[in-house]
Amino acid sequence: MEKMIVAIDGPAGAGKSSVTRLLAERLGFQFLDTGAMYRAVTLAAIHQGVDLHDEPALQTIATEIEIVFDGEEVFIDGKNSTAAIREPEVTRSVASVANAPSIRSYLVDLQRRIAAQGNFVCEGRDQGTVAFPDSFCKIFLTASPRARAQRRVEQLSLSGKPVEFEAVIRDQEMRDQQDSTREVGRLMKAEDAIELLTDDLTLVEVVSELESIVRQRMEH
Ligand code: C5P
Repeated sequence: MEKMIVAIDGPAGAGKSSVTRLLAERLGFQFLDTGAMYRAVTLAAIHQGVDLHDEPALQTIATEIEIVFDGEEVFIDGKNSTAAIREPEVTRSVASVANAPSIRSYLVDLQRRIAAQGNFVCEGRDQGTVAFPDSFCKIFLTASPRARAQRRVEQLSLSGKPVEFEAVIRDQEMRDQQDSTREVGRLMKAEDAIELLTDDLTLVEVVSELESIVRQRMEH
């Protein structure tokens, strides 16, 4: 039987990763965090001291490292790197890796190979537009810049790393700018994606809304 893919795209801080995990659980699907792949290549490049603008060198790293997902955890060459890929240094540097067309095409291909193994909820920036344009259900999850920044401040404060709201807004603007202006795979709503603004919704409300959208599509 043809595998089902729910493609979820949207800007940083729209709540994609929590929504994706919970939605996948409700549907009995697996999930794929594609941002973690760009982060994994970035972390490996930093560790190997590679110039992040040297695309051929990045390409070598991307093809040579082994990225394995195990539930919420990410392993690079067998090493649990779940926390390391979310360190600020990686977040600051990941844009040069995500901007490199050869890396994108390699990782999109890897995403397709992983997703061919089952039913998946895949989240990122280009899942509905580039990776899975034929997906039966595409969601564009968004929230206002202030709501996204506020959530990030709360998240960081809960994990014992308080930050200033204004600093978060500034970083977020920069990432939005990078995400929506890159040459290939830029953040864009697919024409046939359903847009959901999450400002006034709780996580559970968002997941319930999406579950009902997906189930309706599954019936047709
Ligand atoms: O979602 P997350 O913040 O973990 O993504 C890390 C980086 O990877 C971001 O800069 C984002 O722009 C990039 N990315 C991408 N394409 C994807 C997923 C993430 O370019 N499909």
